[in-house]
Amino acid sequence: MSFAENYREIRSRIEAACARAGRSPSSVLLLPVTKGQPVDAIHEAANAGLQIFGESKIQEAKVKIPQCPSRLQWHMIGHLQSNKCRDAIQFFQMIQSVDSLSLAQELNKWAEKLGKRMPILLEVNVAGESTKFGYNPDKVVADIAGINELDRLEIHGLMTIAPYTPTAEKARPVFKRLAEVQARCSDILGAPLPHLSMGMSGDFEVAIEEGATIVRIGTALFGARQSSVTRQSAD
Ligand SMILES: *Cc1c(COP(=O)(O)O)cnc(C)c1O
Repeated sequence: MSFAENYREIRSRIEAACARAGRSPSSVLLLPVTKGQPVDAIHEAANAGLQIFGESKIQEAKVKIPQCPSRLQWHMIGHLQSNKCRDAIQFFQMIQSVDSLSLAQELNKWAEKLGKRMPILLEVNVAGESTKFGYNPDKVVADIAGINELDRLEIHGLMTIAPYTPTAEKARPVFKRLAEVQARCSDILGAPLPHLSMGMSGDFEVAIEEGATIVRIGTALFGARQSSVTRQSAD
């Protein structure tokens, strides 16, 4: 299937999920995830009207972003090491994968040096999978006030990656739990946290039913990922 067909189908599935949940489709941002996809695919999606894209590796993003239209915006959705914070601040408009106070402090330091403010989401490992990064749910509740004091960072909400399951329905408790953690966090901050980034190609409809405001979709839009798109373009 072509990108245009995939895009139309995903849009209509998002609209149907919103209708079931009594939500407006405009309350859900479709974030196309282009890790492992060539720059051509990004141009095609940009031509179809998409403006905000997700990448998960700094090295790959640094090569691809300069080859894309400068009007595009980029969300970092992958694990970030502290020695990559400078690049993350320079190349991205939101960092969805903040998973420790020390990482937040390092990002804040670079945002200050580079004269920027950075919207962030805190990544929560709801299911406690050892193979995944992200805050333990109790730890995020403990750390959020400290992160909120970092004056160059703006906490916009929470992000999670549900465990892989062939049945999307099985991810529902994970999404419900993230919404509960969001409510606790906004109580602590005394302010609403607008964003819940949850749901991917295999489970985004269930995530929308549970309140997702950002769904991160890669393969269902672009097809299978390639292992080294950046090296390929240099060969
Ligand atoms: C790769 C990735 C996605 C997209 O996954 P698909 O299953 O291809 O839709 C979403 N979120 C994160 C954090 C990812 O790394």
